[in-house]
Amino acid sequence: MVSVPLSPPRGMDDILPDEMPLHRRLLETVRQLFRLYGYREVETPTVEYFELFAVKSGEDILGHMYVFKDAHGRQLVLRPEMTAPIARLVAGKLSRSPLPIRLGYIADCYRLDEPQWGRRRRFYHGGFEIFGSSHASADAEGLLIFDDFMKRAGVSEYTFKIGHVGVHRAIMSSIGIESEDQDRVLALMDRGRTEEAEKMVRQLSKSQEGAMLFSEVANHKPGPALETLTDIKEIVAGNERALGEAQNLQEILSLATSAVDPSILVYHPGFARGLSYYTGFIFEVYGRHADVALGGGGRYDGLVSTVGGPNIPGVGFAIGLTRVMQYLLDKMAVKVDHDSALVYVVPLSDDAVGEAFKVATQFRRAGASTEFEPSVCSAVEAIRRAERRGARFLAMLGRREIERKVVSVRDLERRVQEEWVFEEVYEKAKTLLKGIRVST
Ligand code: AMP
Repeated sequence: MVSVPLSPPRGMDDILPDEMPLHRRLLETVRQLFRLYGYREVETPTVEYFELFAVKSGEDILGHMYVFKDAHGRQLVLRPEMTAPIARLVAGKLSRSPLPIRLGYIADCYRLDEPQWGRRRRFYHGGFEIFGSSHASADAEGLLIFDDFMKRAGVSEYTFKIGHVGVHRAIMSSIGIESEDQDRVLALMDRGRTEEAEKMVRQLSKSQEGAMLFSEVANHKPGPALETLTDIKEIVAGNERALGEAQNLQEILSLATSAVDPSILVYHPGFARGLSYYTGFIFEVYGRHADVALGGGGRYDGLVSTVGGPNIPGVGFAIGLTRVMQYLLDKMAVKVDHDSALVYVVPLSDDAVGEAFKVATQFRRAGASTEFEPSVCSAVEAIRRAERRGARFLAMLGRREIERKVVSVRDLERRVQEEWVFEEVYEKAKTLLKGIRVST
């Protein structure tokens, strides 16, 4: 016998039968939103080339990737996120698609993060990306979809943390700071190391006035999105490009508030996100009961060209489905439906096994999910087993039923029992199903 650990690798989770219905419900919600908002779903391999993430993913992701070599020495990774693989598709196989192109995905991603609540080494992203539009409506759409998702998923209290790295980048560009250095400054801000970011800007800057402007924006306190944005617009009024970026955020927010409650939009002028491909609007979503993001995204206009495609703008986001599931279970104590068959078919004697097997088939042909019990037991035991499995109906056949060519069908919820003749099982099962659909 080989001795292997009975748990999955550290930080990774099996999804067990009792957890699957909620996991599946969240995935189905994401797919409903793909259809509702016009996103076409795609799938890419779990394994990607290292280089795809090497250029633009940011230190936080690069330092936490599962990296390995294939038999030919090519460096491969388990994908840490999906925006870069989707950009690869748009740069390659989908490069002739009419723009804008909306793509959706549901994918497991892998990061060598230190496992803790809400932080796993394997987790699901449900994502939405739009390529080929620079318009503010494409950015605003992300807020609408995420808001819709939260409502459908049953997360009642949440806020959007809004930012715009275009404002920071514009200020830094105007004082001569190159794009790669900007990425490093924004990465520091993302980790809350704003003072170090400011110091770096001061060192790299050609104008102390510009560095001060950067600091003023980075340290401005968060607040209701539209009011705070008015403050920022006044602060950057003398810098035309930065003002233009702030104006872009204004347009995004105006469009978003046509559908999203403005009171849940909070602008954090000092907010940056870990991935260095962001160029403009960014956001994250927080539930009231946990200080970790349930998802996030933003605009990444240079990414498609970085992976070898044309210069196509892009914007999108990912919902952290694994974290949302943990949030619903642990912080909101949601009740989870269980996967159980509607009908449980049990033979009560050895000579009834064949007939019971056929009865199970009749139920299934009528559309009822049906589980067959292969071992013979008493009626009392059959009821016990069916209840433990959460079935609604129990179909039993013993010697008595076989002689009379009937099956005893018990409604375990209403505690009533009737006999159906064999030939009628299919029709009666159909009627039964209709009744259930009407009553639920
Ligand atoms: P990111 O683009 O890295 O911010 O990821 C988007 C979302 O995925 C985050 O807001 C989280 O909800 C989720 N996420 C990121 N990393 C992890 C992780 N290690 N475990 C679980 N969820 C994660």
